[in-house]
Amino acid sequence: MDKVKKIILFHLIVFTFILSCSVLSFAAQAKNIILMIGDGMGPAHIHITWLYATRQLGKNLVMTEVMDKGRTAYMINDTADSTVTESAAAATQMATGVKVLAKSIGIGPDGKALKTILEMAKEKGKATGLVTTSGITDATPAGFIAHVAQRSEEEKIAEQLVKSDVNILFGGRKNFFLPEDEKGKRKDGKNLLNEAREKGYVVVETAEEMNKTQGQKILGLFNMGNMVYEIDRKGSTEPSLAEMTQKALEILSQEKEGFFLMVEAGRIDHAAHVHDIGAVIWDTLAFDEAIEVAYEFQKTNPDTLLIITADHETGGLAVLPYSLTGKEYEGINLEAISKIKGSSEKRNKELGEDPSPEKIKEVMKKYYDIDLTEEQIKAIRENPLKQLDPRHFHYGRNGIIAFVLRLYHRIGWATDTHSATPLFLWGIGPASEKIKGWRHNTDVFLMMKEAYGF
Ligand SMILES: [Zn+2]
Repeated sequence: MDKVKKIILFHLIVFTFILSCSVLSFAAQAKNIILMIGDGMGPAHIHITWLYATRQLGKNLVMTEVMDKGRTAYMINDTADSTVTESAAAATQMATGVKVLAKSIGIGPDGKALKTILEMAKEKGKATGLVTTSGITDATPAGFIAHVAQRSEEEKIAEQLVKSDVNILFGGRKNFFLPEDEKGKRKDGKNLLNEAREKGYVVVETAEEMNKTQGQKILGLFNMGNMVYEIDRKGSTEPSLAEMTQKALEILSQEKEGFFLMVEAGRIDHAAHVHDIGAVIWDTLAFDEAIEVAYEFQKTNPDTLLIITADHETGGLAVLPYSLTGKEYEGINLEAISKIKGSSEKRNKELGEDPSPEKIKEVMKKYYDIDLTEEQIKAIRENPLKQLDPRHFHYGRNGIIAFVLRLYHRIGWATDTHSATPLFLWGIGPASEKIKGWRHNTDVFLMMKEAYGF
């Protein structure tokens, strides 16, 4: 081979090498990202739901299947000002990669607005969506698009949502979009549903309306307050989290530039705050059905990165070993839990403010199929937990009822607010190899940004 041929061959090899490298790194990029957040869903919430699904319902969870097939990490979530976080700071940290003050939405500790991954995706021409069973103005969805100093500023958040141009907005708390004289909570007299329509949104209020519409911008508000607990949903007009996820994917996947979708199971947290194990399990099962929808989409669209995690643990939940008289180390009583008839929300409505001993006996028999002793009924009436530790057991009688039930269900709760228990972070798809080890929730932003190639 003469010298010229050698040089040409050398350049050809180098060129092919560079080309194959760029193709490989391009292949590792994600066109779409689906981020799924179980609000308040610590490792014990997943474990207990998995026990219930496998041993009581005879099925595996899709979320654990994704763990098997994909990558898993532990995740901690401390904020700029605390080791125990809440949903606003947690969502903001995952959306922006910056440690912020508890309760702030899309705003840094210096008071300046932070750019979120959703805003970056939108700038690149991607379609975007936010889906939750809590309020669409609540902290987790808000953390991806809104910018307010306090999560409680939900009227302001609703206004920012309507102006956001986010394609899919599904959830509850319609009352922050309506003025007080239309049964809403807005003090400024505005009807944001009309403003949303002017901005090109199709507004839907039931599962049926949602399924029918083909709009590219849909505002779905399915309840004046939060959407109902899954355990109580039968007979309502509300869609399931899986149905909302399905619809969101149907619309967002039409965008050729790809999309960003955040799906939140918002009420696992609410159920854990009030120590309601039935509602925790059923809302986690509903989350799993939504994960199944997303995972099926990921399988047929492998340029999609699916990430599943939680924002924080709620309740300090644990499986306990003992009943009052049974053998040692019995563990969770799944059969007793399978007899739960409805949420604590419904139960409390029947109990009323100041229930008589007869009323407590009757309602507890109806909801849990349990005959309480006189001492247990007395404890529920007197509520000593609230007197001893009013800051960790402050939600009415929920704490003491769960304390009485722990002898039957063998489930314990350490607090009726959040704990700092490390969470699982797992996923599958392009760039998911970054999901490993001991991570912080600000890393979720970095992983997503890198996966998109931004
Ligand atoms: Zn919470």
